[in-house]
Amino acid sequence: MPLQFAERLNKVETSAIRELFKLLGKPGIISFAGGFPDPAMFDVEGLKEASGNVLNEEPGPALQYGATEGYQPLRDQLSTFMATKGSTVAPHELIVTTGSQQALDLIGKTMISPGDKVIVEGPTFLATIQCFRLYGAELISAPIDAHGVKTDELETLIAQHKPKFVYLIPTFGNPSGAMLSLERRKKVLELAVKYDTLIVEDDPYGDLYFDAPPPPSLLALTDTVPGSRDLLAHCGTLSKVLSPGLRIGWLIAQPALLANAVMCKQFSDAHTSTFAQATASQYLKCGRMPSTLVHVRQVYAERAKAMGDALKRELGDAVAFERPRGGLFFWVRLTGAKGGIKDAGELARRAIEKGVAFVPGAPFYAENPDLATLRLSFATADVAKIEEGIARLGQALNS
Ligand code: PMP
Repeated sequence: MPLQFAERLNKVETSAIRELFKLLGKPGIISFAGGFPDPAMFDVEGLKEASGNVLNEEPGPALQYGATEGYQPLRDQLSTFMATKGSTVAPHELIVTTGSQQALDLIGKTMISPGDKVIVEGPTFLATIQCFRLYGAELISAPIDAHGVKTDELETLIAQHKPKFVYLIPTFGNPSGAMLSLERRKKVLELAVKYDTLIVEDDPYGDLYFDAPPPPSLLALTDTVPGSRDLLAHCGTLSKVLSPGLRIGWLIAQPALLANAVMCKQFSDAHTSTFAQATASQYLKCGRMPSTLVHVRQVYAERAKAMGDALKRELGDAVAFERPRGGLFFWVRLTGAKGGIKDAGELARRAIEKGVAFVPGAPFYAENPDLATLRLSFATADVAKIEEGIARLGQALNS
């Protein structure tokens, strides 16, 4: 007899993207498919020093079980880190999570009952779609443009569906690369208050801006919209700027939500690795973070420019896109110009044959997928590889 798995598994499937990743082992493939940061950007020296300090200075607590809420020195450091980004957050107002992915999972676990409605952006982060569906959410997609979620349409959807919460990636979204304008950020917070709706802000990419800092996070802006702070949950992470393998994320939310998240985390992983937390804490303490940020911003900015230029040169009006102002992604739409194909899935198959990989955009939509879209990550290939890869994409489009 096959095992009878929980019914909730019927709501999700292994992503099409993972299937595509299996092909990436082909020799010579240039990949724009992953969402990974470039390992060459990891500050290995800094992390060696930080982990060495942990074992010299605090081996007992760092190798012991710890509090579910997080290792206190790290909570203190994260509170200081958030202050550098314009948000006043006391250490007890945040908990450390195993990546921001776990913060999202805890929000799903604490907030979603089967059948509850949740509004997400169309398109949005695939793992969040799957995670919220696993808890039985009915997802509703709010349309976006280059300035992020369209707040007029968001308001209509909130009024109509009365969602449990709204999940947004306001700054350099995955996969959209879009940056929510300041005006819309304020509007989102006003909507939260007007409709008494929780907003979940996922912010893994806000530190990765290129030319100019993005507008303040929704969290930072809660100071300007009375009554909004309790209606805002914020997920942060060190994954994109320091190391995803550390698995250090955090959740900032009002006390009742935080307490329930802590309770659920207790039953799940008890706490995030104390050793990883202590290492992250020592790293933030040693003062290397500002120069690390300058370095990663500069490298990704160069790569983004190279990708934008190559797309214009090699694909011309066969594609439409906005240059991202930060983050790791280009979000591209096939226009079908000059008889080119408009099906990104078909282009992905042809592209693999030409030695370049990307992910089609359709799986990133909770509803009404746009089959002409695709996501290109410029994070892990250097400028020469980006130019070569986009040239191959041009060949694939014309093959
Ligand atoms: N949110 C978004 C939008 C992401 O793109 C990612 C990573 N791909 C995460 C959350 C999770 O990151 P982590 O768990 O490593 O913090």
